[in-house]
Formats: sequence, structure tokens, C-alpha cells
Amino acid sequence: MLRVAVVGSGPSGCYTAQSLVQLDSDVCVDVLDRLPSPYGLVRYGVAPDHEKIKSLQNNLRAVLEHDRVRFLGGVQIGPGPGAVTVARLRELYHAVVYCVGAATDRHLGIPGEDLPGSWSATQFVSWYSAHPDAVDAGFLREARSAVVIGVGNVAVDVTRMLARGLAELTTTDIPQAALTTLADSSVTEIHMVGRRGPSQARFTTKELRELGTLPETDVVVDPAELALDPGYTDPSALPAPQRRNVEVLRGWAETPPKGAPRRIHLRFFLRPSELLAEQGHVGAARFERTTPDGQGGVTGTGRHEVIAGQLVLRSVGYRGVPLEGLPFDPATGTVPNLSGRVLREGVVTPGEYVAGWIKRGPTGVIGTNRPCAKETATSLLEDAPALTLRVVPEDPLPALRAEGTDPIEWPGWQSIERAEAELGASLGRGVVKLPDWESLLKAAAGKAP
Ligand code: NAP
Repeated sequence: MLRVAVVGSGPSGCYTAQSLVQLDSDVCVDVLDRLPSPYGLVRYGVAPDHEKIKSLQNNLRAVLEHDRVRFLGGVQIGPGPGAVTVARLRELYHAVVYCVGAATDRHLGIPGEDLPGSWSATQFVSWYSAHPDAVDAGFLREARSAVVIGVGNVAVDVTRMLARGLAELTTTDIPQAALTTLADSSVTEIHMVGRRGPSQARFTTKELRELGTLPETDVVVDPAELALDPGYTDPSALPAPQRRNVEVLRGWAETPPKGAPRRIHLRFFLRPSELLAEQGHVGAARFERTTPDGQGGVTGTGRHEVIAGQLVLRSVGYRGVPLEGLPFDPATGTVPNLSGRVLREGVVTPGEYVAGWIKRGPTGVIGTNRPCAKETATSLLEDAPALTLRVVPEDPLPALRAEGTDPIEWPGWQSIERAEAELGASLGRGVVKLPDWESLLKAAAGKAP
């Protein structure tokens, strides 16, 4: 048997495990995660109102329930007390595949970025997704206007969540505290702001179009601002996805607002230059008007605009973080690799692999991870004859336990699922996520949270 550890149980980790067991009947895979719960960003990143995408968990569940796959939650890889180092993991398995994603957010590097009231979209997403590391930072306290910086799909997610009401969220698995806060929100103006033009926005058309379906919400676009983009005035040369985005925006530009109580303003050609304080809290964002440079980029015009916002969400992309013991390229935020094989100083290291965002950067939708994982699994299986020459424990679990790591196995996760169903029933809702470490660990141990 070839014994493989996959680190990370998000889509890339699960698809890697799936490819390995499908491609070779002599492989067993342990999927390790630092959290007690599996599924990574499908559980803690996909917005709660995107139930169809969330249902992908059922596919990932089938992988983790496969005969030759085992989920081991609550296992931290890296330095520190109770953690398993990269070197030790390498001793315990024939091969290790790191599928650890891009765990942090990119920074804007502008004055005022760290003012209270300015958060990364990741912090906000983690809060409404019940990530146990998230803090309830009082995101919406006294906010009437929100500014979302960036025009990718995460920006669309947080914009949409800010515009959702009680009726639409109560049927989701959003934690109770976040539900109450969002339902009581006084935010009526949400500005989503891109530094380039509408034809260069990163959101996908399906996600963009959904903004126009929100109850009691108008989507407001300024046709004159859209027309600053040559791709808007003449979309014929645009690739189909961008052309579709432009057509959706044109539809809104040609439709007068309904006078709804909430407005989403989609803004373009404004690059953030400073966040401005009001009584020690963010009160507005200052942007410089940009103009297309003819190469797909923009240049500044020296003219500025201030948009009021007591909540600023910086949604400018994720970034990989280094894992001690693994090489890391700070320029790309990825682990250097060749078809998934980890490269140390340009040379392949046998038995170490990567898949997903830590391999290729934080791009693509969930399905993009399938071919990415398959490529890595194929590389690993090509190397298998050499890898199995090394003797490893038949089962690494006793060694891990002896060294102070006590993984949460599949029945522990199933206990969490039961606790979340019970919590939801007690609140008159469906499944409701447990939002903190204590309740997750209690539930995993079969105790009432
Ligand atoms: P993203 O797609 O890379 O978008 C990042 C946005 O931030 C872009 O508009 C970018 O503008 C802007 N930006 C970057 N640096 C900036 C700066 N210094 N100042 C102003 N704006 C800046 O990242 P994301 O939205 O975090 O999404 C990550 C990945 O997850 C994407 O592949 C996305 O499709 C995926 N995702 C998918 C879904 C879904 O399918 N429903 C949901 C969420 C996320 P420029 O283009 O000008 O750089």
C-alpha cells in the first residue's frame, strides 16, 4: 500500500484524495485538517445563500467516506506545541500533498487601511460563515453605508450578503448571531468599487446578475462612468464572459431604479488612495479617478472622489502563506512546483506535492481544482515505485497519538453535524453552524455544545 497524507480537506484536498484512490487501488489516503470540520472554503468561504454550491459538500463527503480515505480533523501541521512538523509528517507517510489554499488576504497598502471599521472581506466572510477563528468585530455597528473595494466574486458575495434580509437568510446555515446582525442592519448604500473598467472586472456573469434579483434593492450604475471603458462602448471585441458582464451592466444602466430602500452602487475606474477617519473610526474612502491606458491597465488622473462608508471591506484577493519546512515563493504566494511536485531550489523533492491555490495561486472556481488535483495525483503515482521503497508505519495514528495529537475522526465530525441540526431545530431553523472552537470540540466529543 502507498500511504499518502493530504493536508487540507477543502475542494483541492478532497479532489486529490479522490483522484489518488480512483487512479490506483493500492493507495490509502489520510486527509488531515487543522479544523475539526472538513470541506475548507466550501464550508467557510461559499456564502450561506449559495446553497447549490454548498451542496458540493455531498460530493466531497463521498470522497471522505471512501473505504481507503480517512478524515483526521484537529491536526495542525507546522511548528508549535501539539502540531506535527512537515519533517515528521514526511516520516509517517510515503508521500504528502499540501492542499492548504491561500489562507490570508492581500493588502492595499494605503493610509487608513487598519482603521477600525475597515476589514478584509475574508474576516467578514469568516464571521458569517461561522469559522471558529473569526471574531465578531461589530462589523455593522452604526454603519449606514458600506464600501467594498474590488470587483471579484468575493466582493459580489459580501455585497449581496450586506443586502440580504432576515427572510432570505433564516433558511440558510448562517450562525444565529450573524443572522440577527445582518437582519438588523441599517446599511442602505453599498458601493462596490473597481479600479479598472467594467470589461476588466473579475466577477462572473452569473454572480453579477444575481445582484439584480435581490428583493428591496436597486442596482445603480452610471452610464457615463461605464462609457469610460472602450470595451463597454464597443463590446464586439471582448471575450464572451466579459461581453456578458457588460451586457448585464448595460441593462441596469438603461433601467431606471425602482426606488427600493437599499441600493447597490457599482462603480468603476476608481482606485483607493486613503481611508478617512471620523472620530477614530473609518468614515469614508478616498479614490483617485483612473482612465484606461489602452493596455488593459489604468493610469491616475489626479482627480479624487470621496465615498462615505462606516464599513469598508477590502476584497482584493487572497494570498498563500508560507508553511515552515516547505519552500515558498513570496512573489506569487505559492509553493514552487513542477506539475504538483514540490521544488526545493529548483529540484524536485521526492514525496512532497501541492494542489489547489497553494500550487497555482488563488484563482478559478471550485471545479478548477479537479484537473489541478488530478495532475498532482498523476505525478505522485508516477513516483510511487520509488516512494514505497521507504518503510513507513502501517498506521500513523498510534504514533500521532503518542506524540500528543488526538485527531477527530469521521464519527466526531458526524457528531458536529448532529449538534448543528439540533441547534437549528431548537431555533426553529434548519441546520445552523456552530461558530466557535469550544462548541465544535464539545460536539465532536459527543457532549452537548
Ligand atoms: P479576484 O477574482 O482576484 O478579484 C480581486 C479584485 O480585487 C479585482 O477586482 C482586482 O482588480 C481587485 N484589486 C486587487 N488589488 C487591488 C488594489 N490594490 N486596489 C483595488 N483593487 C484591487 O479575487 P476574489 O474576489 O477574492 O476571488 C478569488 C477567487 O475565488 C476567484 O477565482 C473567484 O472567482 C473565486 N470565487 C468564486 C465564487 C463563485 O464562483 N461564486 C465566489 C467567491 C470566490 P484588478 O483586476 O484590477 O487587479
